[in-house]
Amino acid sequence: MTTPDRFLTDRDGPRDECGVFGVYAPGHDVSRLAYFALYALQHRGQESAGIATCEGGHITTLRDAGLVSQVFDEEKLRALEGDMAIGHVRYSTTGGGSWENAQPIWRDDGREVALAHNGNLTNAVELWGELKERGIDFRGTSDSEIIAALLSSHDGKLIEDAVERVMPRLEGAYSTVVMTKHAIVAFRDPHGIRPLSLGRLGDRFVVASESCAFDIIGAELMREVHPGELVSLTERGLETRQVVRGVRRSSCVFEHIYFSRPDSRMEGNVLQQARGRMGEILWREAPVEADLVIAVPDSGNPAAAGFARASGLPRDDGLIKNRYVARTFIQPGQELRKHGLRLKFNPLPEIVAGNRIVVVDDSIVRGNTTRQIVGMLRGAGAREVHLRISAPPIRNPCHYGVDMSTREEMIAHGRTVDEIADELDADSLAYLSMDGVYEAIGGSPEDHCDACFSGRYPLGDPEEANGKFALEDIAVIPAS
Ligand code: SF4
Repeated sequence: MTTPDRFLTDRDGPRDECGVFGVYAPGHDVSRLAYFALYALQHRGQESAGIATCEGGHITTLRDAGLVSQVFDEEKLRALEGDMAIGHVRYSTTGGGSWENAQPIWRDDGREVALAHNGNLTNAVELWGELKERGIDFRGTSDSEIIAALLSSHDGKLIEDAVERVMPRLEGAYSTVVMTKHAIVAFRDPHGIRPLSLGRLGDRFVVASESCAFDIIGAELMREVHPGELVSLTERGLETRQVVRGVRRSSCVFEHIYFSRPDSRMEGNVLQQARGRMGEILWREAPVEADLVIAVPDSGNPAAAGFARASGLPRDDGLIKNRYVARTFIQPGQELRKHGLRLKFNPLPEIVAGNRIVVVDDSIVRGNTTRQIVGMLRGAGAREVHLRISAPPIRNPCHYGVDMSTREEMIAHGRTVDEIADELDADSLAYLSMDGVYEAIGGSPEDHCDACFSGRYPLGDPEEANGKFALEDIAVIPAS
């Protein structure tokens, strides 16, 4: 059966992974800082949210299913006092969406830790087996709990020493924030696959998945946490260690195209502008005779603006998005179901009728949403519908912390671009080239992962990587 959430999900594209935050700031209202930072990172995960604080040597963790604004209220925030805090928003990648897998994870296997993780370990099953042999039990089924258990049970005197020893054991993507009674330590995998940034809040320091979390709390972006680097936030201020060196950087190129917020800064770009350039280059690569450019809101907005700018074509809002629809849990029922996507997007006949329309979006995964959009626009009287996508065709799953469909579900799997256009009932379809993406972000394939487009997985054979539910397949979860 289609669940309401599935039916009304925001898009049928890739699902954002997770967002992490950490602040060490005695004298500040750290739980409120974490709350608003998570609020800014909400796009990275809407299944659960959590904050852990530390006061007087005692760690308190509060996490639950739902949006940040649903999980926390004034009373709960007031109960979370302390000198430091970490936070997490989650869309499940490894492990199901159960409460046990909500974060921050708390463990005490010798050292009390709370931990928030964005990414996906590709050797989670192996590490889980080792820990089980050492007699360590797990409450949930997420790979994040494995990192927490490794750090919590490590005999290194300082948490920084434990992280330094554990990092080389971890394979895959991990932008992680861990809190002990004395410190917050953030570390990023040697390939730097998922983002992680460092900021300054007065004379204190913060870390977050994206810089938009700094803007909302008045912090200032200093720089990215380097791939393979550990940063430690304590009473002494900021200390860093480069734990792993000399590994090829492979930052996720999809963060630039879609995942991260357009007002976040990444690798020297503000993403709104980089996405606008993608639209400009898309026009240069695939011009089309048309009357009007419209975006699939909101993710297609920057590229549509760029496409319109470069082409000189007028741009208007021909599709209006209901921004709250993903959060309704009422089943649409048979009568409404036939209207399908109108629950999410409503076309404006007054704008599209009689026109040759260019529809700009950032990506197509399964194509269900795109197919319905084309149908709705034709139904609203569009004379022609031309699709322009500001990314190459997605043909491969992600093993580094992003939930894509399976290869077989992807519309570009085994199809040419013309065949995809036929499937979508579009008059024409064109994708931005991989070179075009790199030109727009000023980067290169040498230091990015683009595996979902190219099939070149920077960390080796993906078939050996653990699937989303790999741990659930082997783990026996004790009743909680
Ligand atoms: S496979 Fe795609 S989504 Fe996953 S890390 Fe690589 S570029 Fe990003």
